[in-house]
Amino acid sequence: MSLPFDPQEGPVSLHALRHSTSHIMADAVLRLFPEAKVAIGPPVDHGFYYDFELPRPLTEEDLPVIEEEMRKVLAEAGEFICSSLSRAEAADRLREAGQDYKLELLDDIPEDEGVTFYDHGTWSDLCEGPHVETADQIPANGFKLTHTAGAYWRGDSDKTMLQRIYGTAWWNRKDLRKYLAWLEEVQKRDHRKLGRELDLFSIDPDFGAGLVFWHPKLGQVRRKLEAWWWDLHEAAGYWPVYTPHVAGEQVFERSGHLENYADMIWAPMDVDGRPYRVKPMNCPGHVSIFNSRRHSYRDLPLKYAELGSVYRYEPSGTLHGMLRVRGFTQDDAHIFCTPGQLEDELVEVLEMVDQILSTFGYSYTAYLATQPEKSMGSDEVWEHALEALRGAAARRDLALEEDPGGGVFYGPKIDFKMRDALGREWQGPTVQVDFNLPERFDLHFNDADNQLKRPVMVHRAIFGSFERFVGGLIEHFAAWFPIWLCPIPAAVLPITADQEEAAASIARILGEAGFRTALRTEGPLRRRIRECEMEKIPYMAVLGEREVESGTVSLRVHGKDGQEALSVEDFVARLRERRDSRALEY
Ligand SMILES: [Zn+2]
Ligand SMILES: [Zn+2]
Repeated sequence: MSLPFDPQEGPVSLHALRHSTSHIMADAVLRLFPEAKVAIGPPVDHGFYYDFELPRPLTEEDLPVIEEEMRKVLAEAGEFICSSLSRAEAADRLREAGQDYKLELLDDIPEDEGVTFYDHGTWSDLCEGPHVETADQIPANGFKLTHTAGAYWRGDSDKTMLQRIYGTAWWNRKDLRKYLAWLEEVQKRDHRKLGRELDLFSIDPDFGAGLVFWHPKLGQVRRKLEAWWWDLHEAAGYWPVYTPHVAGEQVFERSGHLENYADMIWAPMDVDGRPYRVKPMNCPGHVSIFNSRRHSYRDLPLKYAELGSVYRYEPSGTLHGMLRVRGFTQDDAHIFCTPGQLEDELVEVLEMVDQILSTFGYSYTAYLATQPEKSMGSDEVWEHALEALRGAAARRDLALEEDPGGGVFYGPKIDFKMRDALGREWQGPTVQVDFNLPERFDLHFNDADNQLKRPVMVHRAIFGSFERFVGGLIEHFAAWFPIWLCPIPAAVLPITADQEEAAASIARILGEAGFRTALRTEGPLRRRIRECEMEKIPYMAVLGEREVESGTVSLRVHGKDGQEALSVEDFVARLRERRDSRALEY
């Protein structure tokens, strides 16, 4: 995951620094708990961890103590020395130290591979490296232990539960501080946390893991997104289609999904003695519509769009809020066109991608994934599709990063990565050319020369999945949605009961203009203001005697200092302007 700052570089990679710091931590933990057993301790994104079997559960208070011990270790550790041992020597060393987990790891190393240990001071660890040259290179003020978690040995819930200590390490204190500040903001914006606090979504274990319930406020956000999405697609010549959620298994046999993606498709269900599957993709449904009648070249391009809900199996350990789920709705569309039309169609798709991503303030990078080793279709067909993708990008002035061999077996594609407000990269839209399905389902059209020919098929999804995209939006905006998406854009707060009637009438005017408005009359004004802020209502119209007399409101706007007096008409006009322009600012 990328960061919003460029950290300092050091004598070895940050990866090696972090891995070395994990060794220092393991050494420190063993000094504090001599009976501890160590398991694995790799570097990870931005940090490292190490798994231990310990005589007691760790608490938050243990972490600074371990950090202090690490500084002592650092002062004494000296050089990191790599040595090669025979298997027998390695086993003896680990048996002597009573390190059973490491003995198991030793068994995993293939016979034809060497066994290396990295030692510093009195510490010795079965390890491949790489590491710093000497412990002096590890800055004593550049690391921090961040948290602990339980972790099963080998990720297997039948095995021992170990304690994992996470830490982060940088080449200097400034980078460490920047990282910790960023991490705090990331945690504050976590969509699962905000989802709970703001009553946005839930997951009900009785229904199943990875299945998302959209609560009313987030349902409102989604409905606005969907309406806008349909407007854009209708204007671009797409037709809405609706296809069944389940299909006889032979559909996915013919499409190749059962052959190539069997693990991700949910198990079959029996209907009248015939196996059915819940759909993992919408494509075969759109193909079926295309194939239900003959097409002339004059009919093309045909563009089918569907907000299609699909179900895919994901291992339970990988599920994550709305971001990694087992059921989701794709903003899916398929374009059937002639080879000659491909480039023009792609230009339009790229234009829509840009329009949609920039509306949310995402910057993005586009990656062109080319032919993988194992692929179908002639080189000529691949070349044509690549030309079309490159040509379309050039016409849009879109720079393409190359992802050589990164295409799927059935055709090249452009994948987008979007960068959010915290500088993190998210998987974004995808545009794929497909040679596979037109072959497998024998698609054709009658060309101008009266010959039957294969159409080209393009798959494209821009949000990707509503679940993941909106989960990402919650974090990107910290749930302060722009007015056009905001579930409750405004609140009206009368100072005393005398202004309640006037407040109710303003709330009615706003409601009629299409803005859900909270009328809050109970309790002290200060508390009501705080509550509205916590509910992420961006506009608060406060109403006192003076305002009622002059037909104005005193407006407080999230993120802006002070208050602004303006007429009720101007307030409504402001909301309208922000909504209709899809402004990112309030
Ligand atoms: Zn190591
Ligand atoms: Zn598709």
